Amino acid sequence: MTRQPALFLSHGSPMTAIDAGELGQCWQALAGRLMPPDAIVMVSAHWMTGIPMLSGTSNPETVHDFYGFPAELYQLRYPAPGAPELAQEIKSLLSDQGIAAAVDPRRGLDHGAWVPLRTLFPEAQVPVLQLSVQPDLGARHHWAVGRALAPLSARNVLVVGSGHMTHNLRDYFVDHGRAAPQTRLFRDWAHRQLLDGRIDAILEWQHEGPHAAAAHPTPEHFLPLFVALGAAGDGAEIEALGGGTLGGALAADNYLFAPA
Ligand code: ZN
Repeated sequence: MTRQPALFLSHGSPMTAIDAGELGQCWQALAGRLMPPDAIVMVSAHWMTGIPMLSGTSNPETVHDFYGFPAELYQLRYPAPGAPELAQEIKSLLSDQGIAAAVDPRRGLDHGAWVPLRTLFPEAQVPVLQLSVQPDLGARHHWAVGRALAPLSARNVLVVGSGHMTHNLRDYFVDHGRAAPQTRLFRDWAHRQLLDGRIDAILEWQHEGPHAAAAHPTPEHFLPLFVALGAAGDGAEIEALGGGTLGGALAADNYLFAPA
């Protein structure tokens, strides 16, 4: 039986949708390798809630959740269908593991979801639902959420964590990469933990990772990684897909987690 992998993607800036650069090349290469899934669960850093929320609409709208970008970006649509039944099912999977979750009947697709999906699945025919992150809860919570989703892999559902390997926006927009030597150390550390399969270390990233607070002044862009890790199940094979660095400041690494 073939199983879907789980992915962690660094989704770049909204501009990645029209000027994809190295990230786009990485996603295109990935698109050529993925088996067509029956559904996609996008865990986006841009949906932050107190408890896990699932989007439950059958026709999710494309949400342009950013300001001050070129007009053409606001014209882009990703008209994939939703997956309301799967949303209810995932709510039950979470509940079975003692994790309270809820379904939002209106929530559309934010740019954390649709920017990479436009490259990975340009025909927008695979049903997509979003799952939120909980910035007040830590890596182990998100890992537990992912582990509850692990049965989906054998059902041809692709779980994607969409965030960023490092995400110091002040450094990107204002400080011109001044913190880059520090955030690079964090990126190299996290990359090494993943490739060496040191899951316990990466789960303690805020304590064990060098310059973790510089790499992620707020945690939401790193948390989708743990959902993807959990969703791939124990002993998953972790593969680095590259992705480069945005503006010399934001590490944009992408990873594939192949279930054991
Ligand atoms: Zn983002």
